[in-house]
Amino acid sequence: MLVVEDDPGIATQLVRGLERAGYAADSVAMGAEALRRPPSDVVLLDLGLPDVDGIDVCRRLRADSDAAIIVVTARGEEADRVLALDEGADDYLVKPFGLAELLARIRAVLRRGQRAGGGPAEVLRHGPLCVDLRTRKVTISGGEVALTPKEFAILECLATDPGRLISRQEIVERAWDEHWYGPTKVLDVHLAALRRKLGDPTLIETVYGHGFRLADRPTQDAD
Ligand code: CA
Repeated sequence: MLVVEDDPGIATQLVRGLERAGYAADSVAMGAEALRRPPSDVVLLDLGLPDVDGIDVCRRLRADSDAAIIVVTARGEEADRVLALDEGADDYLVKPFGLAELLARIRAVLRRGQRAGGGPAEVLRHGPLCVDLRTRKVTISGGEVALTPKEFAILECLATDPGRLISRQEIVERAWDEHWYGPTKVLDVHLAALRRKLGDPTLIETVYGHGFRLADRPTQDAD
């Protein structure tokens, strides 16, 4: 992990907290230094840096690396958050924040990275359903189901963590590749089509007012 932070007190605290949590961590105080470093898995990025604006660092890191970028800043305005997320930040945390929350956000971005980067969970299996993240093929009891990119993204979101209730907002944010500030109704159309194609209306459960999850059921052997 790389901490990009010009306040030495905060930088030291963050590095110590990360190390205590079992991560290898280092810090730099300048944006230019951060860009010269070999790629890290996660970059915690302060926006108010002495040499370059953190947003520029964010943009350039995103262009050059697969690092997960969590912006950690005192700038809490919505416009700042939108800008950082649009420039490639994976998450955004406003100071002051607790270490427990930061660690939870780090775990979340690492989980997402594993999916996208072809980590261990390349093929998600759940009951008769099989979702191959590398080839983007979906099968139900061995029979292939052709999905649109949006339908696939929604299913991927649900299948990554089967049984967990996932809010409409989270699905929309993850499946639409950007943070979605509008109504989440757009999801319903795609979800209805997805359910129809999967052929088993009970596979995706609706929890009214909360969200969706994959129904809990044991994985079957393909026959
Ligand atoms: Ca600063």
